[in-house]
Order: sequence, then C-alpha cells, then structure tokens
Amino acid sequence: MSEERTLTQAEDLSTPARSPVAQIAHWPRDAFIDGRFVDAVSGARFECVSPVSGEILCHVAECGAEDVDRAVRAARRAFEGGAWRNAEPQGRKTILFALAELIEADVDVLGTLITMDMGKPITDAREEVLDAAGTLRYYAEAIDKVYGEVGPTGPSALTLMTREPLGVVGIVVPWNYPLDVPMWKLAPALATGNSVVVKPAEQSPLCILRLAELALQVELPQGVLNVVPGFGEVAGKALGLHMEVDKIAFTGSTEVGKLFLTYAGASNMKGVQLECGGKSPSVILSDVPDLELAVEETATGIFVNAGQMCNASSRLLVHESIRDQVLERLAQQAEQWQPGDPLHPDTRLGAMVDERQMERVLDYIRLGSREGAELYNGGHRAREETGGFYVEPTVFTGVDAGMRIAREEIFGPVLAVQSFSSEEEALRAANDTAYGLSAAVWTSDVNKAHRFARGLSSGTVYVNCYDYGDLSLPFGGYKQSGGGRDLSVHALENYTQVKMTYIRLLD
Ligand code: NAD
Repeated sequence: MSEERTLTQAEDLSTPARSPVAQIAHWPRDAFIDGRFVDAVSGARFECVSPVSGEILCHVAECGAEDVDRAVRAARRAFEGGAWRNAEPQGRKTILFALAELIEADVDVLGTLITMDMGKPITDAREEVLDAAGTLRYYAEAIDKVYGEVGPTGPSALTLMTREPLGVVGIVVPWNYPLDVPMWKLAPALATGNSVVVKPAEQSPLCILRLAELALQVELPQGVLNVVPGFGEVAGKALGLHMEVDKIAFTGSTEVGKLFLTYAGASNMKGVQLECGGKSPSVILSDVPDLELAVEETATGIFVNAGQMCNASSRLLVHESIRDQVLERLAQQAEQWQPGDPLHPDTRLGAMVDERQMERVLDYIRLGSREGAELYNGGHRAREETGGFYVEPTVFTGVDAGMRIAREEIFGPVLAVQSFSSEEEALRAANDTAYGLSAAVWTSDVNKAHRFARGLSSGTVYVNCYDYGDLSLPFGGYKQSGGGRDLSVHALENYTQVKMTYIRLLD
C-alpha cells in the first residue's frame, strides 16, 4: 500500500489549501492482489495524467502477465477455499451492503478521483459514485431471492437445476464510466459468489484502486477482489488468455471486443460477454410531440460526458419539414454545453479523457469537413490555456450516410445530422450501421412508435426520451455492439452456470 496513506480522508479533504492534484497523491496507485496493495513484479509504473490540466497525477503500478497470473491464482485460491462462494447468501449480502455504505460515504474522494483522472464534471462524477453504490445494493439485495428449479420429471426421480458461480471472472473495462461500468459487472459477479480480477482502463485506474481500499474495511475474504492496472495489450491480453479465468466480462470498443473472442478460442474457451461501441440514432419524426424536448435530450445524449458514452446519440435523423427548427434549437443547446472547469459544480461539459482521444476527435472533425459535411457548430479545441484536453460541442449538417462521420464511433461531442422524407427512409437510415446499442424515436403516434421500435435493430429503444434506464432494466446491444446484457436481475445469470442434478428415487 502507498506509504502516504497515513492521512485520513477527513484530514485530507478538510485542508482547503490542498489542491485536487495534491489530494490524489494520498490515494492508492499500486496493484491490489490477494488482499494487499503491491508493486508490479517488474517495478514498472505508468504516468497517470489529468485531462483537466495535463498535469501528472501520480505513477500507477504497471501490471504485466506475471502480475495478472498472481492475481488470477489468488482469485482461484479464494474461490476454491470457499469462504465467499459458500458463505450464506445473507452473509454476502451484509458485506456488500457495508461496502455500498462506504462507497457512498466516500463520494468526495471517489468523485474527485474520477474527475481528475478522466475529466468528467464533478457533479456527474459524484452521481456516478452514488449510482455505483446503488448498483451494488441492488445485487446485494437480490442474492437471497434467486431460486433454483425442480425439473418436471416422473415420480422415480427428483431433478434439480441449481445455479452455481463460474469461478474466476476477469473484468476488463473502459475509462468513460470508470466506477459505474465495472460495478455493473462486479456487483452481480460478487453477489453470486465468484472471485474477480478487474483490469481498469489505463486512462482511469484510480477510482477502482480506491474501491479496493474500501473493500479492505469490510469482510470480503482475501483474494476475492483483485485489481491489476496496466495496459490493454499486456495486462488485458494476459487476462483474456489466462487458462484459469472462467469468464471475461468486457466493456470497450468493438475492435478489442473481437480480440477477446480470439483470446478465448486460443486458450480455454472461457465465456466472453461483450458490451461494445455504438453509433446510435435519435430519429425525430414530423409529428414529434415536443420538439424542444426532443432536441434538448438529443443534445444531452451526445454532449454529456463529452460524448464519451457508448450509447451517445451521435446521429440525429430529422424529418426534412422540421429540420430548420431543429437546427435552430440545436445551436441554442450547443451554447449551453460549452466546456468548463470539470471541478466546478455547474460545469456540464468537461474534458476528453486524454490528449490522444482529443486529437482523435479533432481528426474526425477535420475529416467531416473534408468529406463535404457542413460544420454547423463548434469544431475546435477549447480551454487550451488550462493545459487540459477540451473539445467544443460540434454539430455537422448535410451528412451523408456513406460518410465516415456517419458510420464510425467518434466517442466525442460530435453530432452528425441527416434528414429524411419518409418513415421508411428514416428506419432504413437508423439501421444502416454495424452497431445496434441504442436508438430513439420521437413521435405523437403510438402506432408509429411501436412500428419503429419493432423495426429498430437495437438492444435499447427509447420512445420520446433519450438515455433513460433503470437498474431493473437490461442494457446491451445488437450486432457489433456486442450481445451481452448488463443490469437487471438477468445479469445474475451472466455470472452463474446451471447444474442439473438427477436423483433417482430407489424403491
Ligand atoms: P478499448 O476497447 O480501447 O479499451 C477497453 C479495455 O480493453 C481497456 O481496459 C483496455 O486497456 C483494454 N484493452 C485495450 N486493448 C486491448 C488488447 N489488445 N487486449 C486486451 N485488452 C485490451 O475502449 P476504450 O477506448 O477504453 O473505451 C471506449 C469504448 O468503450 C467505446 O467503443 C465505447 O462505445 C465502449 N463502451 C461500451 C459500453 C457498453 O455498455 N456497450 C459502455 C462504455 C463504453
């Protein structure tokens, strides 16, 4: 564990002179393996740079294959030992509830870590922390409400279908929701008795390491939770190829999701659950019930989290008869989403996660103009004087379905607007993508709404809203957005397997 951990959280945060960067020096940055914070075997560390200001926050342990192996073996030992998987469901529930309490009480620290590490506005970061605590509670609460089944076999047998944990689950996650997305997987995996090894994104490892530190304060048995910060091509790959990992729960790009399928094939046929990218359309039909609301929610859907959202409404399809009204309001909306200081509570649009991502987004903006789309709003780097990585909310009009800005996931605050003249054309355009994560339709006609919802090749459909959901509802994609589903009680099935037991009843 880092030696600086002598300060308590209260002391640290009550010192007004201490800048957020200085505060971060006190939180863990080592790997968490077998219940202890440790260096990588190689001693290597990588820079953790804040996108808020471009400053180096700290140097984090850079795990390699050997560290991943140590973590997986610790997780396997913990699983085989049975202290967690064989614990009474009520016992697991009590411990996970206690952890959820600690997460909630730690909202100042975790929120600041998220903002400083990946650039999201502090208000959103704090909400993410509270959401993560809520997710953990949801699955803790569900533990003792999942029943097995008795088979409908004849009188000479009693047949049972019981759900058992998988064993060691590897969790590989992106940086855009660095606490929430891992929690969507961690919570059901732990609730069902598995041991886990989390590989956070190299851009945002700090909040999960802090979570591990909180886990030390509850009675989670040693080795049940492990965290291996490091690079995807090394630590992520080692986890994907490890023979003792029973399942990989992955969220990230489609490209890397495909790699995990090959890792599974090249190793032990481990299960792979994929939640990948998107290019989600928001379709505004001519009979939109509230045009103002449709534009506002579509704008929020692409500008929130600086567009670094898998289900961002990155394509706006609008009926040609209302196009001009929509564009006018879109410009007003963009005005309200100007980038600001992520640590200020009123800021809505923060930083891109790092310089590379900012440059990638700016490259796409330049490409859009070269492809012949019209840059209607924004399009530039912002707040350069801060040293941080910010991009203006950007809107392209006159976008053609064949353009790369209409087809590829940009993962930034960039909206591509296309218009259509008929419902059929709109549906065709909405589905004209390799992805299928989310889609929205705005209409006053209940028949059209149902027709559209049925026709959309998308794991999530919003009608007259955008980006709504609930812990009780599944989230995931069709097509190359990956076939997995997070959330809802169904996610418990992701981390269990069914055992059939046939008991012959002897005379
Ligand atoms: P990414 O695919 O580059 O990285 C995701 C994780 O995979 C990281 O931990 C990374 O270190 C690891 N990784 C990278 N290369 C690897 C390799 N060769 N082998 C093994 N592991 C590797 O994604 P990102 O840039 O961090 O995140 C953005 C992507 O995540 C977007 O495509 C976004 O749509 C997607 N996403 C999807 C959802 C969803 O629920 N569907 C949610 C959030 C983000």
